[in-house]
Amino acid sequence: MQRKTAAYIDREAIRSNFSVARSLAPDAKAVAIIKADAYGHGILQVAQALQDLAPMFGVATIDEALVLREGGIGNAILVLEGVTTRDASETARAHDLVLMVHASEQVEMITGAPASAWIKVDTGMHRLGINSADLAETLNKLREGGVDVQAICTHLSSAEETDKAVTREQLLEFAQCTAGIDLPLSIANSAAIIAWPDSRADWVRPGIMVFGVSPFASDVHAVQSLQPAMTLSSEIIAIREIPAGDSVGYGARWTADRKSVIATVAVGYADGYPRHAPNGTPVFVGGEVVPLVGSVSMDMITVDVTDHSGVSVGDLVELWGSNLLVNEVAECAGTIGYELLTGVTSRVPRIYS
Ligand SMILES: *Cc1c(COP(=O)(O)O)cnc(C)c1O
Repeated sequence: MQRKTAAYIDREAIRSNFSVARSLAPDAKAVAIIKADAYGHGILQVAQALQDLAPMFGVATIDEALVLREGGIGNAILVLEGVTTRDASETARAHDLVLMVHASEQVEMITGAPASAWIKVDTGMHRLGINSADLAETLNKLREGGVDVQAICTHLSSAEETDKAVTREQLLEFAQCTAGIDLPLSIANSAAIIAWPDSRADWVRPGIMVFGVSPFASDVHAVQSLQPAMTLSSEIIAIREIPAGDSVGYGARWTADRKSVIATVAVGYADGYPRHAPNGTPVFVGGEVVPLVGSVSMDMITVDVTDHSGVSVGDLVELWGSNLLVNEVAECAGTIGYELLTGVTSRVPRIYS
């Protein structure tokens, strides 16, 4: 590996963060949500790191589950999107996957042979889930069709906004429709685990917090013990001095108002660095935060190091990690940490410790 750009993944941090999630909901079991290549951290490596801690993994698709099975992961696996064909449900059965049943069409696809399922109820997110009024009937049909229904769940639309009434309404509707059903219940994603104690129920489903990133835009609810698991780093490959009045990069988007020292860093949007990051987005160089200046290119960015005399070619640069929270960079770029983590491309090697 010649290019220094890489994502360093700290598996001890992932284990510790998962334990933090469990300690916030000590009476619940936790499904570690590792969809989308474990939020960009590497699904198999993360599953191996959590294998002895997590009773169940959650993935979005059957294909993601198969990567785990082919990699020798024997833990229970919940497929959050369930199936869209009968064929897919045969595959799920052959690999002992637990299918989310979130639509009435899926009932026919999975009944008639032994299978395991969770039922998802739509309490207001309006993305996936059967109507709460249909829960009892769906449960009966599945059981009559030989399906082992293991839990009932719902998903909150606004758990990261702690002043929203909609969360209370969702919790109430879920409590009402599951009253009298003697099955484990599951509601909480990371934000709910942290901010909505009433939602913790029997199973929690932490995702982003396992990777040490807060689901909240502000750090009002910061959980100090979470440790960022990914450090995206690169190096300075060129340094030049430019006169006041000269501009930098495509579109000449930034113009120096004084004689300036510009360092070029080997990371760009083809690596997953956000192309929309504006002038001033923080970049961590040699122990200091410096501003991005000029447009993000495919393979490079430029930063203003005028006030940092000790910077040289070859110096390490952190784009995000423990010195610079991914959420800070995301906020500058008009996105969320989730998108930046999952957007790190395959050109960037993941290096595990
Ligand atoms: C992705 C997902 C989660 C995890 O969400 P985080 O915000 O990353 O904790 C939990 N439940 C479901 C159904 C999901 O799709």
